[in-house]
Amino acid sequence: MRYAILADIHANQEALEAVLESIEGAGVDQYLCLGDIVGYGARPKECLEIIQRISSHTVAGNHDFAALGRIEIDNFNSYAKEATLWTRQNLSEEDLNYLRSLPLVEHVDGFSLVHGTLYSPELFDYIQTSYDAYLSMCQMPADICFLGHSHIPVTFIRRRFITYSLEPEVDIEPGTKVLVNVGSVGQPRDNNPQAAYAIYDSEARKVWIRRVSYDVDAAAATIRDAGLPDILGERLKYGR
Ligand code: ZN
Repeated sequence: MRYAILADIHANQEALEAVLESIEGAGVDQYLCLGDIVGYGARPKECLEIIQRISSHTVAGNHDFAALGRIEIDNFNSYAKEATLWTRQNLSEEDLNYLRSLPLVEHVDGFSLVHGTLYSPELFDYIQTSYDAYLSMCQMPADICFLGHSHIPVTFIRRRFITYSLEPEVDIEPGTKVLVNVGSVGQPRDNNPQAAYAIYDSEARKVWIRRVSYDVDAAAATIRDAGLPDILGERLKYGR
């Protein structure tokens, strides 16, 4: 099976459509989504509609939970807070019901999906160190877990010790445990403005992190025209 794995779309329809176009012809059998479909961007309804239609397994992110009022947004920065309030006003009851239906963790076909961490998915902590990775690896029933949240693609690999890799191609070696952060479709933060996502081939046991250029200026204009904070569009141009 070949899977396309999308995370942190953040209501960026321009980026999402460019990613889907780049996947055409890649022989993908299933689409999976790791949450944060909404928040920051100006096209939450459109992105929800697309993900609901194409994704066979989707987990919730903290911005999806924030839109539902399930988590406090007091510790969000002021722009994220403003975008959350805007998002709530621009989603229908049907959209919210779809978000409500999303689980925090899914275990499918020999791998796990989560937005933040497996050890406390409801807290939306970040995996930044080998120890953070170790805590989630202890909760992995299989040898692979895909996650998002930090918007920075990185792979943690547990052999004898846990190391990390920034390589765009990852081999899942027998006897290892692997945590793959697939990066962000709609708001990359690794100083590369190109949309990020992953392809996973379960037979070849390989993961590829792919990057796609899209019309960032159009996405920024969509955010500005919606009356959202300008900086949420401007940062897309720098991938920060
Ligand atoms: Zn996010």
